[in-house]
Amino acid sequence: MPDKNIFSDKLHEECGVAAIYGHSEASKLAYLSLYALQHRGQESAGISTSDGGTIHTTKAMGHVADIFTVPVLKNLPGYMAIGHTRYSTTGDTVERNAQPFSVQCNKGRIAVAHNGNITNAAALRADLEANGAIFQASSDTEVILHLVAHSREKTLAAALRDALLQLEGAFSLVFLAEDRIIVARDPQGFRPLAMGQLESSSGPAAHVFASETCAFDLINAVYLNDVQPGEMVIVGPEGVSRERYAPQKKLSQCVFEHVYFSRPDSIVFGRPVQESREAMGVMLAREAPAAADIVVPVPDSGNAAALGYAGESGLPYKQALIRNHYVGRTFIEPSQAIRDFGVKLKLNPVRSLLEGKSVILVDDSIVRGTTSRKIVRMVRNAGAREVHMRISCPPTISPCFYGVDTPNKSELIAANSTIEEIRKFIEADSLAYLSMGSLQKSVADVKDEFCYACYTGDYPSDFVNIEHLVRAGKKAGS
Ligand code: SF4
Repeated sequence: MPDKNIFSDKLHEECGVAAIYGHSEASKLAYLSLYALQHRGQESAGISTSDGGTIHTTKAMGHVADIFTVPVLKNLPGYMAIGHTRYSTTGDTVERNAQPFSVQCNKGRIAVAHNGNITNAAALRADLEANGAIFQASSDTEVILHLVAHSREKTLAAALRDALLQLEGAFSLVFLAEDRIIVARDPQGFRPLAMGQLESSSGPAAHVFASETCAFDLINAVYLNDVQPGEMVIVGPEGVSRERYAPQKKLSQCVFEHVYFSRPDSIVFGRPVQESREAMGVMLAREAPAAADIVVPVPDSGNAAALGYAGESGLPYKQALIRNHYVGRTFIEPSQAIRDFGVKLKLNPVRSLLEGKSVILVDDSIVRGTTSRKIVRMVRNAGAREVHMRISCPPTISPCFYGVDTPNKSELIAANSTIEEIRKFIEADSLAYLSMGSLQKSVADVKDEFCYACYTGDYPSDFVNIEHLVRAGKKAGS
C-alpha cells in the first residue's frame, strides 16, 4: 500500500468545514457542501446534526461520497448540521481523530469541527490534563471542547468566547449546540470561512457557512460575505447575531489558499481564486520569459497560472499532460518496478503535442523536487526538445504551522539549495519562480494582509517564531 506522499510531493490539503441552520434537509446540504470541499481533505469526513434536542453524529475514514449513503443520511435528522472533511495536520490519521467531535458537558451537548492549527494546543492540553481533563484523541481540536467545559462562564456563547481567547494560531470553527450554530474565525484570519443564504419557497431562508464558496454553488446558496477575523456568528431561534470576540490584529490570510489549496471556482478572502492564479501566470511570463513553442500546465494545480502565462507571452496553451482523476488510495503495483510509477499513474503525456517542442511547464510549487523531476523526465521522454519549468510562487523555504501539512525544513529543497541546484536536480533546461512582489500583486494585497511565511520564514505570530527557532536550534545541535 502506498504511503500518502507517493503520488506527489505537494503540500497537502488541510480541512474543510460547513454548517447549515434552518433547513429540513440539513444533513443532505452538509453532505453536498463537504462533497464540494473534498479537495481540502480526503482522510476522513463527518456530519453532526440536531433537531433542536439531540445531536447525532456520523464520521468515518474515507471520502465523503463513500461514507454518506442514503441510509446513513436518514439517520442524521434535524434542521441544523455541521460537517468536516479532514486531512490530518495535527494528530494521527485514525478514526478517533475524525471530526466533528461531540461531547456532553456542563454547557450542554456540543459538537465542533475545525480547519486550521492551534499553535499553543500542546501547552493548553498539558494545563488541562494537569487539571484532570481526559483526552480521547490526539487532535488539537479536542482542546477547544475542554476549554469550553472548564470555563466559569454560564452560557455556551460566553464559554466559547472565553475558550477562543486562549487559542493561538489558525482556526475557522463551526459549533453545533442543541438549538444553535456558532461559527468563529481566528483574529488573524488565516483560514477562510464564508457565509451565505439559501432561499426557500416554503419558509425563511437557511443560513449556510463553508470554507469555500464552491460549496454554496452546489447547494444553490448565495455567498453574502466572510465571517470576519475575530468574529463569532451565532444563528439560533432568535435569529442571527454577529459580534467581535477578540481585539483587532494584523491580518495573516494564507496566501497558499490562492496559490494552490482552494478551488479556482471559489471566492476566498473576498477574491476569486482563478483571478489570482491567472495574474500569477501573467506576472511570471513578464518576469521569466523563455524562447519556447508551447505553454503546458501541470494539471490541475498549474492550469490557471499557465493560462495567464500563455496569454501574456502569446505562446499557445496546450494541455499536453493528462491527469487521471480516478487514482484511488491503493493500487496493485506490478512486481517488476516501473520507473516513476506513482507519477505515471496520475499523469500521462500527449506525445503528439510535445514531440520536438520547446516546452514551458507551469506548476504551483516545488516541495521536495522529486515529483517535479519525474514530470520533467516524462515530458522529455515524450519527445520535448527543451523543458523550462516556471513556478507560480516564490521558493517554499519554511514549514507551515497554521494548518498546512508541509515537510520539515530539511526536506524542502528550496530551503537547502540554490535555484541553479534545484534546476539541475529536476533536470530542467531553465527554472524560475514568481517573485514575492508579484505574488503580493497577484492576490491584490495592497494592505499587507496575507501570510507569506512559507516563502519568507517570517511567521506572523510570536509563539510560532519562537517555536520555529527552538526547533531549528535543536536540529542544528543534534
Ligand atoms: S505559512 Fe504558508 S501555508 Fe502556512 S498559513 Fe502562511 S502562507 Fe499559508
